[in-house]
Amino acid sequence: MGTFDPNLPQKSPPKLPENRAETLPMPETVRSGTFPCLVLNADYQPLSYFPLSLWSWQDAVKAVFLDRVNVVNSYQKTVRSVEFEMPIPSVIALKDYIPQNRSPAFTRFNLFLRDGFECVYCNSPDDLTFDHVIPRRLGGKTEWANISAACSRCNLRKGGRLPKDAQMFPKRKPYAPTRHQLQSQGRRFPPNYLHKSWLDYLYWDVELEA
Ligand SMILES: [Zn+2]
Repeated sequence: MGTFDPNLPQKSPPKLPENRAETLPMPETVRSGTFPCLVLNADYQPLSYFPLSLWSWQDAVKAVFLDRVNVVNSYQKTVRSVEFEMPIPSVIALKDYIPQNRSPAFTRFNLFLRDGFECVYCNSPDDLTFDHVIPRRLGGKTEWANISAACSRCNLRKGGRLPKDAQMFPKRKPYAPTRHQLQSQGRRFPPNYLHKSWLDYLYWDVELEA
């Protein structure tokens, strides 16, 4: 593979109207606005909704040359080397299907995502922490079924007591989410940059700003 001379413009990507996603971490490729590529599984579903599966244009072009992906759509911009010229892919689909039936990892991020980035007691999105619904000192474990997102105020107020003793009940019992449940949560938090060529493969309820 030759050396590319993408000659990319340094313009910022268009922004969607204000939404909660603005405050969430974005993949580096999107932040820098340099032609991120949406990656679909072999069934043309995004590999992941949240974070949205995006590759840098460099990785996308490499995958095309390694014959691992089909190019579904492209930017108008091209990359050039001595030997060839090609449009930068904007959507690619893997040729080999990656099974998606693993259960979601028990991570801080996935836990906040499950709870919609809100305190389960007062719905505040601010100062989120983790609450052991059954406190550790009473044998509560650090696991999906016992941890909820809670703002620091509520966490402090509950202060290591059982819900019935604190008279604070989570709006929903903590649970181990399926991948599908997390994905549909992810749809509520669209990234702040969506190329129009991606929209056929994403959520219907997201509109691209003109
Ligand atoms: Zn709260």
